[in-house]
Amino acid sequence: MRYVDYHNADRPFFTDDHLIFRETLQKFLEKDAVPNYEKWEEEQSIPRSFWRKMGEYGFLCSYVEEKYGGINGDFGFSIVLHEELARVGAGLFGIGTHCNVIVPYIHKIASEQQKSEYLPKCVSGEIITAIAMTEPGAGSDLASIKTTAVRDGDDYIINGQKTFISNGIYADLIIVACKTDTEVRPGHKGISLFFVESATEGFSRGRKLKKIGIHSQDTAEMYFDNVRVPAKNMLGEEGKGFYYLMEKLQQERLLCSVGAQVAAEDMLKLTIDYVKEREVFGKPVSKFQNTQFKIAEMATQIQIGRQYLDNLIIKHIQEQDIVTEVSMGKWWITDMAKRVASECIQLHGGYGYMEEYKIARRYRDIPVFSIFAGTNEIMKVIIAKNLGL
Ligand SMILES: Cc1cc2nc3c(=O)[nH]c(=O)nc-3n(C[C@H](O)[C@H](O)[C@H](O)COP(=O)(O)OP(=O)(O)OC[C@H]3O[C@@H](n4cnc5c(N)ncnc54)[C@H](O)[C@@H]3O)c2cc1C
Repeated sequence: MRYVDYHNADRPFFTDDHLIFRETLQKFLEKDAVPNYEKWEEEQSIPRSFWRKMGEYGFLCSYVEEKYGGINGDFGFSIVLHEELARVGAGLFGIGTHCNVIVPYIHKIASEQQKSEYLPKCVSGEIITAIAMTEPGAGSDLASIKTTAVRDGDDYIINGQKTFISNGIYADLIIVACKTDTEVRPGHKGISLFFVESATEGFSRGRKLKKIGIHSQDTAEMYFDNVRVPAKNMLGEEGKGFYYLMEKLQQERLLCSVGAQVAAEDMLKLTIDYVKEREVFGKPVSKFQNTQFKIAEMATQIQIGRQYLDNLIIKHIQEQDIVTEVSMGKWWITDMAKRVASECIQLHGGYGYMEEYKIARRYRDIPVFSIFAGTNEIMKVIIAKNLGL
């Protein structure tokens, strides 16, 4: 069945190389992540040694050129990484975010000097990255951020606060969205991006935020108190930050959908296994028509999601502008995964509510997919705008 066999060979963007990469990665994760995942969830962190090991094995940022330590792989490798991390658990998404969301900014926009300095260490897992856009007063409305970067000779001085930053506790390198011009209208034209290294004076992290799910993923506040960075730490051109973010969000939203789709597929598989095994009133739960109809409905929706998503992946690889379609996919697939979580936990009965059952964790983890990378309401705003409304 396709909806549970998401890594099958008939997906047109995968070659034998991707399948080998997937098999190696699966073996690695089965050995090094799966047995430790429960502990990481409890400790609310993934050890740095795991990042380094992934780097040593060549799993991180595979699209990076060989001269910077990568394998010059295509987007198919990024999909494999995202799917396999998501298969283990959503708590690993910070690693996928580092590889497939944040480092691509460096890879595509950074100067040669910045690339030589940072890319090899991003690939090896020595550097953990974060991207800091959201502030306590500005999430969906990114153009209204208050963090400023003011020019002072050869430097910029950054002041402000960020929140909800993934990899926030362990990040060594943060791409920070700042206002370099607070007067320009519309406000988004005043946003620029900067590299801030975590050791820089004036930078500090706030609390590791307690979340209802994705516990092993560290999410944090960040403070910038007169953080002085050399002007060469600007990423790309001044005033272009918003455009870079918007451009890269297409890939981030696509990958967010990949995570939700894999979670939905996993939840259905867990539930099919469970209802076949669990007996009530003298027969397996799977023999009740209600169960069969629920499973049939979920399987249908998951299959639709998979077909749509794979089609988007193809178009993204072809570098088509698919902002509207990605926005459609992001809200639909993440909402679908939430519905699946709700139905699947119900079919598990009381056991589904117990932490030792994987469905319980999936149920806690999934709601955030409709919030981060742009909320699902913002996706509908984009779709409506692009429909000329
Ligand atoms: C676990 C987690 C990890 C995150 N990681 C990062 C990260 O690494 N880096 C980063 O910068 N940010 C990160 N975020 C922040 C995330 O991107 C924001 O939470 C998200 O963009 C929403 O912003 P907000 O929380 O301020 O909600 P708000 O913008 O305050 O929205 C509140 C509600 O209003 C709705 N709304 C807003 N505008 C409209 C509108 N125009 N029309 C209709 N409804 C609207 C929203 O959809 C939402 O339902 C993370 C968040 C979480 C929870």
